[in-house]
Amino acid sequence: MKTEIARKLSQVEDFRQPRISLEQYMTPPQLAADLVYAAYMRGDIENQEVVDLGAGTGMLAIGAALASGDVTAVEKDREALEVARENAGKLGVGEDIEFVESDIEELEDSFDTVIMNPPFSVHSDTGFDFIGKALEIASATYFIALASARERIKDFVENSTHEIEGLESYTISLPATYGFHTSENEEVEVDLVTTRRTQDGA
Ligand code: SAH
Repeated sequence: MKTEIARKLSQVEDFRQPRISLEQYMTPPQLAADLVYAAYMRGDIENQEVVDLGAGTGMLAIGAALASGDVTAVEKDREALEVARENAGKLGVGEDIEFVESDIEELEDSFDTVIMNPPFSVHSDTGFDFIGKALEIASATYFIALASARERIKDFVENSTHEIEGLESYTISLPATYGFHTSENEEVEVDLVTTRRTQDGA
């Protein structure tokens, strides 16, 4: 199933013109499939209310829909959301995803599961706004973060109602548009982080 999801996700179209200020880049399909499959295996996707925060062109939301999640995709960039809709339609899950054009700060609903690849915020703390929101609105979260932020993330989660359930390392290539002061792609170490709300934090 993971291979099948990765194969389908390799057809997801990228941002037409990535906005540097929004740190837009698409999760590599293999990593997206790993994230979705890890969540699926723990019962956090199938027939669950799943939200993708900062859905971009739909990579994670579509992956979760392929794994039978009840998916909401939240994205503030209208153009990206349009591409996400097209991608979902092309991959046969257009009816299974609710697309919401919004800033994640405005979200008030609760969900079972957050999946996200938030801005890494090479120059700001936006990533932590996403993590804070995710821990607030869901009982399980699956997200990608820079390995260099690992200790801060652990502290942040420890001081919330969640605990870290899993952490796996990957190397990915970030495009030159991604806020670095270079014209080359950058190989960076990232973590796939899983958190779950603790009993007493419920
Ligand atoms: N989830 C996609 C895109 C990741 S890039 C994928 O995995 O391929 C992060 C996305 O977050 C971008 O599309 C950016 O436009 C969006 N974003 C950044 N800040 C946001 C905010 N405050 N509210 C909603 N979306 C935001």
